[in-house]
Amino acid sequence: MRHIVVLTGAGISAESGIKTFRDADGLWEGHDIMEVASPQGWERNTKKVLQFYNERRKQLLTVEPNPAHLAIVKLEEKYKVSVVTQNIDDLHERAGSTNVTHLHGELLKVRSTFNENLVMDWRSDLNPGDFCEHNFQLRPHVVWFGEAVPMFPVAAEITEKADILIIIGTSLQVYPAAALIDFVKQGTKIYFIDPKPTISPGPDITVISEKASVGVPNLVDQLLEITT
Ligand code: NAD
Repeated sequence: MRHIVVLTGAGISAESGIKTFRDADGLWEGHDIMEVASPQGWERNTKKVLQFYNERRKQLLTVEPNPAHLAIVKLEEKYKVSVVTQNIDDLHERAGSTNVTHLHGELLKVRSTFNENLVMDWRSDLNPGDFCEHNFQLRPHVVWFGEAVPMFPVAAEITEKADILIIIGTSLQVYPAAALIDFVKQGTKIYFIDPKPTISPGPDITVISEKASVGVPNLVDQLLEITT
């Protein structure tokens, strides 16, 4: 079975109602990203950071996967599919994708500030004074700017095994995630779907300048036909 790796960014969830941040001048829902998504921001104003993620969590629970998330699931009928997402939402899982790696963490999880391996599901508000079993404050299970990306080696290994790489809705500005494209085997077919693509077409690269809800279902239909 051929292996398709799907690398997604904030753009795939835009049409579900979750804003990207590059599209809004580097602001994330009106906030400077360094204030709400960096260890320095956390040190400076823990309450504000918790409040920000509480709002994101509440919003996530009101939105639904869109046709792009759903189309990716259909690929599983004929391909081995690995989704590697920069997103912290759970829309791929809710759509039904069975193999999802989150590079930057998950909004519906929190972890101990004492032991980063102490991770737990969390769907409600997280407040100052919510402690782990060792009596340390819990924080969002999200990779902030300037922090290590522990899942990167796992994602790189998955990408190396791709026969086809589909990249959707990412500005490819956030590293190391953007470097994943360099891990494909020579000759791997790459499709890039984004209304404002940041890479150019090449012998192995097809650029589809469309919104995810249009470009992804079309490409999936083509890829499902190829194998019949
Ligand atoms: P980004 O904000 O840097 O870029 C978004 C990209 O999406 C742009 O290239 C834009 O042209 C494209 N886009 C906008 N609307 C689209 C649509 N309808 N269909 C397809 N593409 C569309 O996002 P990024 O590259 O993913 O990097 C941002 C970081 O911010 C990520 O690390 C991610 O963790 C975080 N983030 C996550 C979410 C989420 O979980 N949904 C939302 C915002 C930011």
